[in-house]
Amino acid sequence: MFDLRGRAAIVTGASRGIGRAIALGLARAGASVIVNYAANRTAAAEVVGEIVAEGGRAIELQADVGDLSQHERLIAAARDGFGRIDVLVNNAGMTRREPFLAATDDAWERTMNVNLKGVYFLSQAVARHMVERRSGKIINISSVHDVRPMADNSIYNITKAGLVMLTQSLALELAEKGIQVNCVSPGAILTDETRDRLADPAHRARVLAKIPSRRVGEPEDVVGAVLLLSSAASDYINGATLYVDGGMLLQ
Ligand code: NAP
Repeated sequence: MFDLRGRAAIVTGASRGIGRAIALGLARAGASVIVNYAANRTAAAEVVGEIVAEGGRAIELQADVGDLSQHERLIAAARDGFGRIDVLVNNAGMTRREPFLAATDDAWERTMNVNLKGVYFLSQAVARHMVERRSGKIINISSVHDVRPMADNSIYNITKAGLVMLTQSLALELAEKGIQVNCVSPGAILTDETRDRLADPAHRARVLAKIPSRRVGEPEDVVGAVLLLSSAASDYINGATLYVDGGMLLQ
């Protein structure tokens, strides 16, 4: 439905979970994809293998998005491998659940670097390429916790709320340069990050009670929103946050 043939995308944190599903979805729509990962090379190589087996183009690339000195590697891989960058999906994210009274400076520093500072400066580096062609799409993967706090996870909540304002601020500045910046905010999605907690029947029941669709989302549930915001179909959508949460925020 969304045609991305001839386009090139960088997806951060694409070795597992939501990022993996996004990388596969973009590739199936025709995009060449940089499959970024932090540590899990085998998983990233599997994603690349899957894309290539389906006739697509992809390159796996290790880079810690929380370390600004590693961003150039990502840009160079896309530029040298595909000759262009049309789409950046800032998906990589982390959380260290810590109650506020026990929260540490280390958790603040690391979570801010990966979830917010890394997104800001990687977007800047990529946008400097996009402005040359006056075209580009930046999509930030936030969370329902950008508006609804999760207990014992204040630092994460703050980074995701910041991501919404980051999205709006960049959208405002980059609109006249032909670049759209939007946010996709998932609800509860079954990934390595959430699997253990959702395996606890009591926790799962509490989560399901909050979701009008009465099911936990799969990573693939997030892909449609990202495809829309990556394609020409969204050329007049800018600064928006699209909640993909089975209606969780309705109640
Ligand atoms: P996940 O299953 O834990 O996967 C995390 C991915 O990010 C992996 O590919 C990991 O690479 C990569 N990554 C982690 N830190 C990185 C870093 N510093 N630099 C580069 N890559 C890094 O996570 P997920 O649940 O799919 O979450 C993806 C995004 O969706 C996050 O931003 C998260 O906050 C957001 N989100 C998730 C949910 C949910 O319910 N799961 C809900 C709302 C929002 P390695 O494989 O190399 O470790």
